[in-house]
Amino acid sequence: MFEKLTLIGIGLIGSSIARAVQQKGLAKTIAITTRKAATLDEARSLGLGDIYTLDAAEAVEGADLVILCTPVGVYADVMAQISGHLAPRAILSDVGSVKGAVMKALEPMVPQGVHFIPGHPIAGTEHSGPSAGFPDLFVGRWCVLTPKPDVDTVAVDRLISFWGALGSNVEVMDAGHHDLVLAITSHVPHLIAYNIVGTVADLEADTQSEVIKFSASGFRDFTRIAASDPVMWRDVFLTNRDAVLEMLGRFLEDLARLQRMVRVGDGEGMQELFTRTRAIRRSIITAGQETAAPDFGRPHGTPETVALVQPQDVPDDAVREHGGGEDA
Ligand code: NAP
Repeated sequence: MFEKLTLIGIGLIGSSIARAVQQKGLAKTIAITTRKAATLDEARSLGLGDIYTLDAAEAVEGADLVILCTPVGVYADVMAQISGHLAPRAILSDVGSVKGAVMKALEPMVPQGVHFIPGHPIAGTEHSGPSAGFPDLFVGRWCVLTPKPDVDTVAVDRLISFWGALGSNVEVMDAGHHDLVLAITSHVPHLIAYNIVGTVADLEADTQSEVIKFSASGFRDFTRIAASDPVMWRDVFLTNRDAVLEMLGRFLEDLARLQRMVRVGDGEGMQELFTRTRAIRRSIITAGQETAAPDFGRPHGTPETVALVQPQDVPDDAVREHGGGEDA
């Protein structure tokens, strides 16, 4: 499908693309570039590509598809390094969780003749780094592309086919619409998770130990989201501020309404709301975007029958400084 694919950043998303492209034979050559030598060495030892270099300009030479897979906050720096080296008619894309601000920042730096087609695969885990990726990450998940209307449709179709070959369903939409939808489906939920886990972290030590002890009762599911990478999520909130504030405003209004229901004992109102929310989970399962297994398919049983993951079994790359996020 492509002669040379260059991946800039080789964490959860970049390494998942590399693995899937290798598995499906979608590019003759894969060039990998990243910031740290240790990360590049890890990618090399995993055999994720054909060319490995810390020089982003060198990596993009002759590439017909270049995908930025770094946190969105470093895009401008990366573009400053590569813009003079992109091949004419190359497709330049990305996987960032925010689109409007990214397009505004990058567009003036895109050379004439390069097809700039921003993208966002709505797939991820809370783990990060080259080892965290897996080739099936995008299978059955949505990938949103947000090209400007004047972008070459042949190039857009090529990128749609690329993501389709990785197993994704692809939708093309306006960047502003993407940012509003993702603000409520992903960004505000992360903000809520960071907030509730932060509240717990501020509690006194003895109360905290009780929280950990009884964490299986709902709080635990927030902690998984709140374990997502701090750098990536800082960048999401710095770049999608307006949409997040708009959706957060609506959320707070609804929370105040719910607070009143609890205060006045409006059982009927609460039951009606909780019935509607339950139906939403069912529709997500029906759409194939979530498992129907109880408790997310977590094993239940005696300690002998359930293999619990011990803290020492969690790989270092799951908690290192640059990291991924959950379904950003
Ligand atoms: P990740 O696992 O932390 O990987 C980020 C990669 O970017 C690392 O290889 C890091 O390498 C590299 N990097 C950081 N700064 C760099 C720089 N200045 N120059 C070159 N490389 C740099 O993160 P990820 O989860 O793959 O996320 C990457 C992008 O995907 C983000 O924009 C995020 O918004 C988007 N996304 C994430 C998810 C998710 O759930 N995780 C889902 C959809 C989209 P070094 O070790 O060399 O610094």
